[in-house]
Amino acid sequence: MVSKQTLAVALSRLKAFHHASLALEQYATESELAAELLWHAHMRGLIAGKRVLDLGAGTGILAVGAALLGAAEVVAVEKDEAAFKVLRQNLEMYEGCEQVRPLLMDVAAFGEQGDVVVMNPPFGTKERHADRFFLEKAAALAPVIYTIHKSTTDNFVRAFAHDSHLTVVWAERRRFPIKRSMAHHEKPRKDVEVTVYCLERKA
Ligand code: SAH
Repeated sequence: MVSKQTLAVALSRLKAFHHASLALEQYATESELAAELLWHAHMRGLIAGKRVLDLGAGTGILAVGAALLGAAEVVAVEKDEAAFKVLRQNLEMYEGCEQVRPLLMDVAAFGEQGDVVVMNPPFGTKERHADRFFLEKAAALAPVIYTIHKSTTDNFVRAFAHDSHLTVVWAERRRFPIKRSMAHHEKPRKDVEVTVYCLERKA
């Protein structure tokens, strides 16, 4: 991959959720935001040749992106069968995705260590504390975490980082468009403000 923009274009061609599940908070990351997160990690030497974990991989945009940037191995963990099916189809799209190992399972039961976690976990608005659970899991499995949260929960994420001896290396606010894939959405497109973080274990 020669640039962040080429990566974003490649990721924009992936298949999305067919019927996003509200209970599972299946909001796919936009290709631009996924590329930005991955590129930041890549520039810091955290992707190429590394073992990357994608927790709550959904349709696999972060996992595929990490593979395209030369990860030695990507483990993509997703518990929803419908999303997992799309994820497997997306792994057929590009060369390099053989490095991705898709696992249909609950993140709660996953325990493999990696060099870095990349994730866009449930925001915890439907299932309370789903965001905390994902952060705890990520912190237990890798020394560096790239993660996306609703900006309204910034205090919580920073308090979590502090209590878990993680440094907030990077935090950027972005608009996150939630497309009308769910019946209850009245407007065709609703933006929520999210923050992309890099959290790193203190030495
Ligand atoms: N990472 C993807 C999907 C984000 S949506 C992207 O960036 O586009 C969050 C995903 O986490 C959903 O696909 C949901 O099914 C999955 N998920 C939620 N709880 C989970 C759990 N306990 N174990 C595994 N996957 C889970």
